[in-house]
Amino acid sequence: MSSLIEAAVTKGNINKLLIANRGEIAVRIIRAARDLGIVTVQVHSEADTDSRAVQMADEAVNIGPPQAAKSYLDVSAILKAAAETGADAVHPGYGFLAENADFADAVAAAGLVFVGPSGDTIRLMGDKAAARSEAKKAGVPTVPGSDGVIDDMDVAADLAAQIGFPVMIKAAAGGGGRGIRIARDTAEFRSLAPQASSEASAAFGDGGIYIEKVIERARHIEVQVLGDGKNVVHFFDRECSLQRRRQKVWEEAPSAALSDEVRDELCRSAVALAKAVNYRGAGTIEYLYDDKSGDFYFIEMNTRIQVEHPVSEMICGTDLVAQMIAIAGGAALQSTQDQIRRSGHAIEVRLNAEDPANNFMPFPGVVGELLTPDGPGVRFDHMLYPGYAIPPFYDSLLGKLIVWADDREAALRRLKRALGELRIEGLPTTAPLFEALLESDDLRCNEVHTRWLESWLEENPELIAQQGGKAL
Ligand code: ADP
Ligand code: ADP
Ligand code: MG
Repeated sequence: MSSLIEAAVTKGNINKLLIANRGEIAVRIIRAARDLGIVTVQVHSEADTDSRAVQMADEAVNIGPPQAAKSYLDVSAILKAAAETGADAVHPGYGFLAENADFADAVAAAGLVFVGPSGDTIRLMGDKAAARSEAKKAGVPTVPGSDGVIDDMDVAADLAAQIGFPVMIKAAAGGGGRGIRIARDTAEFRSLAPQASSEASAAFGDGGIYIEKVIERARHIEVQVLGDGKNVVHFFDRECSLQRRRQKVWEEAPSAALSDEVRDELCRSAVALAKAVNYRGAGTIEYLYDDKSGDFYFIEMNTRIQVEHPVSEMICGTDLVAQMIAIAGGAALQSTQDQIRRSGHAIEVRLNAEDPANNFMPFPGVVGELLTPDGPGVRFDHMLYPGYAIPPFYDSLLGKLIVWADDREAALRRLKRALGELRIEGLPTTAPLFEALLESDDLRCNEVHTRWLESWLEENPELIAQQGGKAL
């Protein structure tokens, strides 16, 4: 961390940071803040009193009952905690209020620094339909689909037929793999679209939907960017093609599927788009990549830190969370694009409290014996400790196991070694899934796409059942 960043933060606007999130990302943010010499305030629900983040933070404030709507999504309770503790900045993490433009505005209106882009930028890029238009304007290829949200079902049905079925119906305010439907023909489209809209309205408070052609057998590749409002740099790409229910479970950096030319083009397009909106903060531009044609298509921008940011940190040797805090505090970007180099290969696997042998049913429980992997090239970002009772109210992510090595082959071997060292007793986790996946030739050769994992699971039920039977 350059002393310039430290100076900008500690002598600037941020001395005390409130973390409006929980779980492993709260732990991650506390670490970055402490490395910068910033005091931390952890807000938490009644269900999270015993959490690792609450134990680690300098101060903790109970903001309400377990249900997220009454605690982690309660803007006034969070702002009250900030006022009471004298915090001068708020980090939203990911999920919860991280991409809520009104929250960013409310934080600013209370005289606090929001660690992220302005409410207006979130409004523009967090609305997936509006972001598509911005991408088009910036010359970034998008998936064929509707211009903006659908306001006339007849026009939309005609357009869907014109694009060609199957089409995806997406909620403009959706995220986390939710709010997506696939229609195979006009009749299905006509019945699913209004349903999708009312569901989006209930789930996201916004019924706006748009359509996209389904790109079959594509890879999910994304670019990490960081902007200070004037300049934007990228930290290369990540491949996140291994997904279940459109949620990522295994991520790598860089993608082993890109040639240097395509990588360069992709990263340049991401920077161009972020520059076009004077982006300030950490962000990710997501694409689908068709490795047969070499075409890539913008799908969305996430205006926040992402779950899988560590793989980029590992290949670039940087702390993206510290950098986003510094930028929020008024620092300029600390590196030019030329100074950002990548080396080696990193892989992250998401350890969820789920039972792979039982259709990945969420399985909150009490952590028993815990042995964590260590040694060269291994990083474990998690929220576990022996005796910790995992609350059943939130998502099932326990942590992320991240490995780095000189090349992909060595990273795969290191992942196997690290998973072998990991022991979490008391509850099933997704670790056996990754041990089984390491045996797959397709995965070893990176012959994958966004539906690959789902078909592999269907074809190999016994593998998971066997691995799941191993007491981990
Ligand atoms: P990433 O894009 O960082 O990989 P995910 O898409 O997995 O992240 O989402 C990160 C977290 O945020 C998950 O817990 C997910 O459920 C949640 N999330 C993301 N967007 C939304 C949203 N619009 N509404 C509710 N939860 C969301
Ligand atoms: P979210 O906001 O929930 O993250 P995304 O738009 O990023 O939604 O899409 C999530 C995932 O859904 C992608 O990673 C990909 O696997 C799949 N997907 C999204 N759009 C398309 C598309 N047009 N064609 C095929 N798959 C898609
Ligand atoms: Mg996405």
